[in-house]
Amino acid sequence: MKAFDTAETSFDSHTHDHRRCVRSALQTAEALCQQHGVRLTALRRRVLELVWTSHCPVGAYDLLEMLSKDQGRVAPPTVYRALEFLLANGLIHRIESRNAFVGCPHPQEAHAGHFLICRVCGAAAELSDPGIEATLDQRAGELGFFVEAKTVELRGLCKGCRARRPDGGEQSA
Ligand SMILES: [Zn+2]
Ligand SMILES: [Zn+2]
Ligand SMILES: [Zn+2]
Repeated sequence: MKAFDTAETSFDSHTHDHRRCVRSALQTAEALCQQHGVRLTALRRRVLELVWTSHCPVGAYDLLEMLSKDQGRVAPPTVYRALEFLLANGLIHRIESRNAFVGCPHPQEAHAGHFLICRVCGAAAELSDPGIEATLDQRAGELGFFVEAKTVELRGLCKGCRARRPDGGEQSA
């Protein structure tokens, strides 16, 4: 496991070329599925593309609506099954506090997916740090606690949104 973060692209949605993010995510997904011997069907690929509409987490209901727009009425289980597939293959993450999904730019690397979520622009950046992981595991272990799920979601203001506020966003939580 190695340290990485996606703050630069996730919180910079106005200035970077997001089409590159989408293209790269789809290419990585295709390669990974081939490697794992699983099928990235047209529907799964389309749902992944829709999750990657932006760096803001998107809910299953919104995905259903977007999908219905280009394919006619789609049954909710169809979307849920596609999301389950994408989650199982590490291509997307679930943001628990939002009950929404966000694309993972590093699905080929094992990581827990800790998130920084901006309450103003709504973007979610990933933060992977083996040191944080190890500390949590160690402390839980010392307490005899068996960890089944690790959700670390930090809510606040991203750099860009802070810069647009005179007080740096520190006054209004
Ligand atoms: Zn992007
Ligand atoms: Zn990830
Ligand atoms: Zn922001």
